[in-house]
Amino acid sequence: MTFQDLKLSEPILKALAEEGYTKPTPIQEQAIPIVLDKKDLLGCAQTGTGKTAAFAIPILEHLHTQEASKGYRHIKALILTPTRELAAQIDDSFTAYGKYTGLKHDVIFGGVSQHTQTLSLRNGTDILIATPGRLLDLMNQGYVHIAHLEFFVLDEADRMLDMGFINDIKKIIRELPEERQTLFFSATMPPTIAKLADSLLTDPLKVEI
Ligand code: AMP
Repeated sequence: MTFQDLKLSEPILKALAEEGYTKPTPIQEQAIPIVLDKKDLLGCAQTGTGKTAAFAIPILEHLHTQEASKGYRHIKALILTPTRELAAQIDDSFTAYGKYTGLKHDVIFGGVSQHTQTLSLRNGTDILIATPGRLLDLMNQGYVHIAHLEFFVLDEADRMLDMGFINDIKKIIRELPEERQTLFFSATMPPTIAKLADSLLTDPLKVEI
C-alpha cells in the first residue's frame, strides 16, 4: 500500500515524499482510513510505530480540505500528550506533514514561560498540541477555548495516568464539545485505561500493533 492509496491530497503527499516516507507503517495503514471516515479510534500502539503520523495526517487532511477559515482561527484539533518532549516531537511532525496545508498549529507545555505561547495563541490556531497542566492553566486564564473542537487526541493515555494527570484530564474532558471525533492511544490497556477510553469514545474502531 502507498500513501496515494489512502486518498490523501497533493499538499500532504508532497510533504510526506519530502520527509522520505515511501509507504505507510502498519498503524498508519489501518488508522488513517478510519479517521478519514470520521470514526472514533482506539489505538494500542507504542512510540516508534509511526502513530503520530497515523493521527496527524488524517487530521491535517480533514482540516485543510474544509473551507478556509476567514479571520480568526478557532482550535479545531487538540492533541493532549504527557510530556514536553512528546509535545515538541508532535509539533515537529505537524510542521513537517502540514507545511503545504496553510494550517496553523501551536504547542504549549509547562516548565517554560507562558508568554511566547500565549502571544502565538492570541492570533488563533487550527491545531493545538498540549500537556495537561499548561493547557488547564491557559484555559483558566482564558487564552484557550475548545468549544469549536472537531478532533480530540489523547496520546499515551497510560503514561498520562502513571504521571498523575487523571484529574487534569477529567477537567479538560468536561470542557470538550459533545460532538467531536476522538482518537485514543495507549501502549497498554489495563482496566482503568479501558474505562477512560469507554467514557470518551463513541463506537470506536480498534487498531492494535
Ligand atoms: P512515532 O511512532 O510517531 O514516534 O514515529 C517514529 C518515527 O518513525 C518518527 O521518526 C517518524 O518520522 C518515522 N515515521 C513515521 N511514519 C513513517 C513512514 N511512513 N515512513 C518512514 N518513517 C516514518
